[in-house]
Amino acid sequence: MTKTADFLIIGGGIAGLSAGARLARHGKVVLLEAEDAVGYHSSGRSVTFSHFGIGGGTVRALTAYSRAFFQDPPDGFDTLAAVRPALFIADQAMLSALDELERITRAHAEAVERLDEAGAAHYCPALRWAPDAVVAAFVHREGLKLDPHALLQGFARAIRASGGEVVNGARVVSIGPRWRVRTASGDTYEAPILVNAAGAWADRVAEMAGVRPLGLTPLRRTIIVFDPPAEMDVHEWPFVKTAVDYMYMMPDSGRLLASPVDENPDDPCDAQPDELDMAVAAHRVSEFTTMEVRRITHRWAGLRTFAADRVPVAGYAPDAEGFFWLAGQGGYGLQTAPAMAEIAEALVLGAPWPETITATGVTPEQIRPERLPPFSTM
Ligand SMILES: Cc1cc2nc3c(=O)[nH]c(=O)nc-3n(C[C@H](O)[C@H](O)[C@H](O)COP(=O)(O)OP(=O)(O)OC[C@H]3O[C@@H](n4cnc5c(N)ncnc54)[C@H](O)[C@@H]3O)c2cc1C
Repeated sequence: MTKTADFLIIGGGIAGLSAGARLARHGKVVLLEAEDAVGYHSSGRSVTFSHFGIGGGTVRALTAYSRAFFQDPPDGFDTLAAVRPALFIADQAMLSALDELERITRAHAEAVERLDEAGAAHYCPALRWAPDAVVAAFVHREGLKLDPHALLQGFARAIRASGGEVVNGARVVSIGPRWRVRTASGDTYEAPILVNAAGAWADRVAEMAGVRPLGLTPLRRTIIVFDPPAEMDVHEWPFVKTAVDYMYMMPDSGRLLASPVDENPDDPCDAQPDELDMAVAAHRVSEFTTMEVRRITHRWAGLRTFAADRVPVAGYAPDAEGFFWLAGQGGYGLQTAPAMAEIAEALVLGAPWPETITATGVTPEQIRPERLPPFSTM
């Protein structure tokens, strides 16, 4: 028997779940997730730190807007965020990038301070402050470490509380007109509106539905986890990132995680870390700190999927009625999720662009798929 819904959502990552929670207020949501648990792919592999050292102006505005949700979540959510410092560092070659990032961060935040060597060491005593290593730094004291589990489960609970369903183990294998969907186990679902929130697979889902793909690019990112020196208690250390995309590190349950900030093109898949990228991460930690990575205790990789202009996409496909894109969340899908969910809700319903989002300077033209090839030359 075919199950019907008002809104069918493909993808149980942060994009699908957060939008689903908002849409569930307006009708029956059924969210189909291929894996046995939500968040198995990118959303469960993120380091979930909200900061302004990533993305262009649109992404930063969405990031700033989303902070209020994380810090004061609605009923039904557990605590979603802890305020943690974000420390940005530069070597000589990165100085102008650091200045620019400080200017941008100050435009969104107050608790920003330029630091000298002693000031930076107060936050992270392992920094290697030397002419060929760190020569400048600033801190944004109010970065947010998000709790991905609390976020994903909170949105899933909100969908169910409004009478919707989150169906795990439901891999969509075919999509027929307006919109009849079949899963690998033979179940069928139907709804007038289909939300494509399939992350790295979003273009493939579009092709399955006969909709023109947007040329989304999944890029792999690698994380290593290692033991800090025995004498260092890293629990209170900040998120530390170079002013350009080169290295970041952050405490992780008494250990440290680090990334070479890699972006290697990959197919949509269960992404796995590459030995070389892991070695590069370890080397870059030793370049900018006094620490050596002697043993990698844990590692993972995940896909960050981008549109050509690196801005997330929300909006109906220009070439298919009722087919809604919610894709291209790149490296900021969690920190922008509350804003993007609000945008998706308005656009799916055909409601006016939210005034709250207008106030951030973000416009529909920046977000809708029409801006991208094949619909525009950009
Ligand atoms: C190492 C790393 C660090 C990151 N750090 C941060 C960070 O600090 N802050 C931040 O905000 N973001 C960060 N990100 C980015 C963030 O993880 C992504 O932007 C976000 O998770 C994308 O969410 P999504 O829902 O679009 O994709 P996903 O979480 O991948 O969800 C898509 C889902 O669709 C499902 N699916 C696909 N095809 C089908 C089908 N045919 N049928 C049914 N289901 C299907 C998949 O199984 C998957 O679960 C990081 C990412 C990585 C990899």
